[in-house]
Amino acid sequence: MRRLVPVSELRVTDRYRMTSSAAPATKLPPELVSDWQALESRWIDGPLSEWRALLPEQFNTGLSPARYGDLPRWREAIANLPPLPTAGIQLNAARVGISGSVPTETLDTLHTALMGLHPWRKGPFELCGLHVDTEWRSDWKWERLAGAIAPLRGRRVLDVGCGNGYHCWRMLGGGAAEVIGVDPTPLFVLQFKALQHYLRQQCIHVLPVTLEAIPAHLPVFDTVFSMGVLYHRRNPMEHLVSLRNKLAPGGQLVLETLVIEGDENALLEPNGRYARMGNVWQLPSPGLAARWLAQAGFSRVEIIDVGQTSLEEQRRTPWMTFHSLAQFLDPDNPGLTIEGLPAPRRAILTAELLP
Ligand code: SAH
Repeated sequence: MRRLVPVSELRVTDRYRMTSSAAPATKLPPELVSDWQALESRWIDGPLSEWRALLPEQFNTGLSPARYGDLPRWREAIANLPPLPTAGIQLNAARVGISGSVPTETLDTLHTALMGLHPWRKGPFELCGLHVDTEWRSDWKWERLAGAIAPLRGRRVLDVGCGNGYHCWRMLGGGAAEVIGVDPTPLFVLQFKALQHYLRQQCIHVLPVTLEAIPAHLPVFDTVFSMGVLYHRRNPMEHLVSLRNKLAPGGQLVLETLVIEGDENALLEPNGRYARMGNVWQLPSPGLAARWLAQAGFSRVEIIDVGQTSLEEQRRTPWMTFHSLAQFLDPDNPGLTIEGLPAPRRAILTAELLP
């Protein structure tokens, strides 16, 4: 028999329930409940409230078991992380993690659990003596820029394409008041969660979101980082304008990208793959990248570092056993990629938005 239900008893759809402050936390991916709870109260006012309203749906899409068949396996890896003493937290060190030591059996359990999140690309990390020796020495990139950017103390920071959040930890260690990393790759979000399981820092969040999914005009961040993302975007100018629209007046952009040698007109558009990557669209010279920044509305553009990527900085390790830079270069000429294009060279630029 059919029963009429008073309107007040009708279930509002989950989507709307979660955007209200009485959101049932259980409807979110379990890993992101704590992020939602923190941001729900922190972003209640001002322009960030617009993004806040989108978060529950973005979280559910970004960590959807229907889209990502490996999620249950990764979740199990995190569930198997053993307890560790968490006294000596190191954020401002090359190896982000915790000092201290634990019995060998605990280290073995930790090793197995973390290996369940292979491949580890960005790092290094160290947990109670276990060195997570990642494909990239991401600490070297940090060393190149840390002394040249506006000090992060007290700043609200956005790290676009943050990977597993290695640099986010360094930003927090550098004194940032709030660090928001966004990256659409769910494995990297879970790697961040494995570290956060032990480091338990407030005011740092790695969210499974693309830059494009953030409200377009959100001028609230004091520093915005885009490192290793520009050349993956079909339209680099659109990317730069989108980054500009996230900066508060007077804020700073830190842009890191693959570049080629040449004057300020030099541009490489790989016709096909570049160093085996299928989604590399445009590699500017450092001078052209600087021009793009000026065209996108930035001031005080500076090239703070340029250099060739070495086989020591990006390499295969026990924590990333797939092919790496050595396999992407011409075996007879390390100055060329396997496709015959100039080997990877990277630049870091800073630029400001006038107050
Ligand atoms: N910033 C880190 C990682 C660079 S790898 C570093 O410099 O070491 C590039 C990352 O960008 C990848 O993790 C990829 O998932 C992410 N990415 C790709 N497209 C993106 C987009 N549209 N918005 C945000 N992140 C994106």
